[in-house]
Amino acid sequence: MLPTLVLVGRPNVGKSTLFNRLTRSRDALVADQPGLTRDRHYGRGRVGTKPYLVVDTGGLEPVAKDGILYEMARQSRQAVDEADVVLFIVDGRAGCTPQDTIIAEQLRKTGKPILLLVNKAEGMQRMRVIADFYELGLGEPIPISSAHGDNVNEVIEIALEDFAPESEEEDKEEHPPKLAIVGRPNVGKSTLVNAILGEQRVIAFDQPGTTRDSIYIDFERDGKQYTIIDTAGVRRRGKIDEAIEKFSVIKTMQAIEDANVVVLVVDGADQITEQDAHVADFVLQAGRALVLAVNKWDGLDAHQRDMVKRDIERKLHFLDFAKLHFISALNGTGIDKLLKSVDEAYAAAMIKLPTPKLTRALMAALEKQQPPKGARFRPKMRYAHQGGSNPPLIIIHGSGLDDVPASYQRYLERAFCEMFRLQGTPLKIQFVSSK
Ligand code: GDP
Ligand code: GDP
Repeated sequence: MLPTLVLVGRPNVGKSTLFNRLTRSRDALVADQPGLTRDRHYGRGRVGTKPYLVVDTGGLEPVAKDGILYEMARQSRQAVDEADVVLFIVDGRAGCTPQDTIIAEQLRKTGKPILLLVNKAEGMQRMRVIADFYELGLGEPIPISSAHGDNVNEVIEIALEDFAPESEEEDKEEHPPKLAIVGRPNVGKSTLVNAILGEQRVIAFDQPGTTRDSIYIDFERDGKQYTIIDTAGVRRRGKIDEAIEKFSVIKTMQAIEDANVVVLVVDGADQITEQDAHVADFVLQAGRALVLAVNKWDGLDAHQRDMVKRDIERKLHFLDFAKLHFISALNGTGIDKLLKSVDEAYAAAMIKLPTPKLTRALMAALEKQQPPKGARFRPKMRYAHQGGSNPPLIIIHGSGLDDVPASYQRYLERAFCEMFRLQGTPLKIQFVSSK
């Protein structure tokens, strides 16, 4: 499981500036999604060999007992409850405010590890900027500048001290395809999990831990083994009523991170919402193979179906690498085809491409379309090899490759996907320039 850092603090202290710095992604696919990313609160990042998840709570204010602000505060509290480390951000220029004191008290009660970060500290004298915040009783305040990056990496290293670096071993281990069923509440995830498991033999049940832990269920279908990562909750056969779902974004992020293939379930009887887009955005960030399931297709007339299709085209067009299935989890229709796409996406995500084959594909793509000339000379690509899978990572070696524009990179990604018939997975390209 990736460590989860949760950012907390009153408005305007610099949380989203810090969030952006911690999640700064060079992934053009993600960066190009206006509307989807403007208001991003969930992301992933890494320092050195340590990847992490980060959640910006947006604020942890004591507010009214209902309405949207209350809901936000509730979600923020849940994120704090599920955090591995809380980063409490205060404003070094404003000094310690009564609101900071209230938040500090709330945080202390959670018993979570907390780092107290004094932001906007650039150009200020260390002792002066932190002196005011000892009274919060959260240990040594750490001055940072989110805007300039001062001390930010160091802070994350401290936060992740107790977490092991990413192991390469895990990737090599053979295991059945891990399939995460994700989506916002009530779209039909647990109905789908039950439909998939059906009368199939359930080999093992794992006990659930806390709310942030998904349930892993091994099963066999048509002679093939899978593991379902069930984010919806406990759904034991015969005890369906006992199931309680507590939607948790962090749980969803962890499940996506750990999966080989994600099945994103949306509700065909409802609009695509911002929450759907947030989950979709995270699938993209994680680079996971994806199958999109539009559920509750039963009981919709032709006109309604048309509307749903258009809604998806408009709002989720950036998921166009994924196969789209219209299903009814309730009636069990469309499940076989859905799983076929899962198999296909798994094979694509885990494909092994030998260097000569990749290099030939690269040459064919170059022949069709040369990269544009850079500032001084034309980038020269010599050969390609595979640097990883889930998703496939293709490393291209050559010279002058810093000048390759994102649009050409995307052209190559598409070309590789086409040539190797990779359906359902994104593909990443990395350039390595030799001098
Ligand atoms: P949030 O409401 O906590 O998410 O705060 P924002 O990230 O939106 O930042 C609030 C304001 O503080 C913006 O005007 C930022 O440009 C500014 N700000 C954020 N970080 C820094 C910093 O490190 N130094 C300075 N001087 N200003 C900052
Ligand atoms: P979850 O919160 O995503 O796990 O959603 P559930 O599986 O609990 O389903 C939420 C509601 O949608 C329940 O009342 C289900 O009976 C209903 N539902 C689930 N799948 C379908 C479907 O395919 N068609 C229809 N009409 N209703 C469905």
